[in-house]
Formats: sequence, C-alpha cells, structure tokens
Amino acid sequence: MNSKIIIAHRGASGYLPEHTMEAKAMAYAMKPDFIEQDLVLSKDDIPVVIHDIYLDDVTNVSSVYPNRKRKDGRYYVVDFTFDELLCLKVTERFNPKNGEQFYPNRFPKGKSNFKLHSFQQEIELIQGLNHSTGNTIGIYPEIKNPEFHHQNQKDISKIIVDILFEYGYRTKEDKCVLQCFDAKELERIRIELKCNLFLIQLIENEFDAQKLGYYARYADGVGPWYKQILDVKEKGKWKLTTLVNKAHEYGLKVHPYTLRADELNEFSSFEEMIELLFYEANIDGAFTDFPDKMVAFLKK
Ligand code: CA
Repeated sequence: MNSKIIIAHRGASGYLPEHTMEAKAMAYAMKPDFIEQDLVLSKDDIPVVIHDIYLDDVTNVSSVYPNRKRKDGRYYVVDFTFDELLCLKVTERFNPKNGEQFYPNRFPKGKSNFKLHSFQQEIELIQGLNHSTGNTIGIYPEIKNPEFHHQNQKDISKIIVDILFEYGYRTKEDKCVLQCFDAKELERIRIELKCNLFLIQLIENEFDAQKLGYYARYADGVGPWYKQILDVKEKGKWKLTTLVNKAHEYGLKVHPYTLRADELNEFSSFEEMIELLFYEANIDGAFTDFPDKMVAFLKK
C-alpha cells in the first residue's frame, strides 16, 4: 500500500445518512480506494453496519420499540435480532435527547426510506460493483467496542475475521484494511486469531510516541485524530507534531480521521486542509465524509 489512499468514512456520509447502502453506493461512484464499515453484533450474532453500539441516534427505534431501552435510557443493537433491526428506519444522525440533527446542512432528518444492513450484504454490494464496473475498491471494516461485546458473551472479532476470510480477504495484498481502537484486541486478532490482513491501530487519546513501537509489533499502521498531527499555528503556518515521522520510522502507515468539508475548524478551506495533511504532514491516507472532493483534489 504505497500511494496515498482515500477512505470513504461511513460511505458518502456528507451527502446521505451514514452507513446506509445508498451512502455506500454513492461513495463507490466517487471512486475512493476504500469504503468504511463500522460493525456491531445483533442479538443473533449478525454483524450490523452501524457506528455505535446504540441505535437511538440514527434510527426511529424509540418509536418502534419504546419498551426495549436499557436502564440508561439507551437502545442497544445487541438487544435486537437482525429481523427486528430491519423494521427500523435509518435517518441522518441526531441528538436523541433533543432530536436535533447533528450536521444541519446534510441530508434532512427523517426523510426518504433508509434501512440497516449486515456486513455481508455490504461486502456483496462492493464486490458486486467491482465485478460490474471493473474497479477494485476495497473495504475498511472497524470492529466496534470488543470489550462491550465480550461482556455480552460475544466474540465479534472472531466472527468478523471468519467472514472476511470467507469473502476472500486473507492477506495484506487483498483490498481490505481491518481497524480497531482496542489495542489488546487488535493484537489478539493478529496473534491469536492468526489474521494476516493489513491492520490499523486507531488512536483515541493523547498521542503517546512510546506506544508506536508496541503497535508496530502487530499493526501495519495507525489511525489518529487529524488534530494529533497538528501542533500550533504560528504566523499563519502550521507546526506539526512528530506523530507522522515517528510512525514512519516504525514502518507504520498513518491514516487520520476525519476530514470534513463542513467542519473545517482551523482551516479556511477543505483544499487547504487536504494539502497540509497529505503534502506537508505526509500522511498516507485519510478518512473523509466527502470522498468526491478529496478524489478531485488529489487527482490535480
Ligand atoms: Ca469508524
């Protein structure tokens, strides 16, 4: 994996509700290198493509199954069978406390008709499109919260690694990158589950350079928050942290999350953000909600 890669974060999620088949098909047409899947198990052990272990910030679960919430007031994917989950409507992400849409300028909340789907169904969509178009777009699955799954007597990693093997994703040459925030679990995936795929260790908290050496023992790259790459802006110019260089010294690729054209923060344009991270900070790829814009810029 040598050239700079573009990962469609939750599909073309800047334009359609995240992780729907529609968002994935649209992302596919934008020709990123990879399309991302976040994975959580249903009660009957079907991996569902959804960002959180909860259902209530992207579906109408509270009106379809009002009595199925836990004591904390939340609805959990793991408490529903796959067939029950299929009765839900998926919508643009919102705050379940007040109903407010998270990104107000994105696809309108509650409109049209979107559904949940399984990991296998999404692999079949992408492999089917690869067959019919002749492209070779990859998958970039993330195992969500393995600790929570273990607490619910579920071995999500084993289930996912088996499915990947069955669909032909077996080595680092196959177009699949497997990611997880839980370092112990990702190491287990490499060693105990004998997974030979390209593995990305996601980094949640403060950057700790000490840990890179440990990650390099089992992972092929790291996925930091993009702000962990930026230090301070002085006289209009960014100073960078040592993260990318240090990771490269350990032979680790760096794929930061998440570049959004409608959440520029410290940048004046999306192009400026992409240019700085790809060409000054020298990242190897990035997650974006707007794969069309990143593809257009990097092609130039
Ligand atoms: Ca993810």
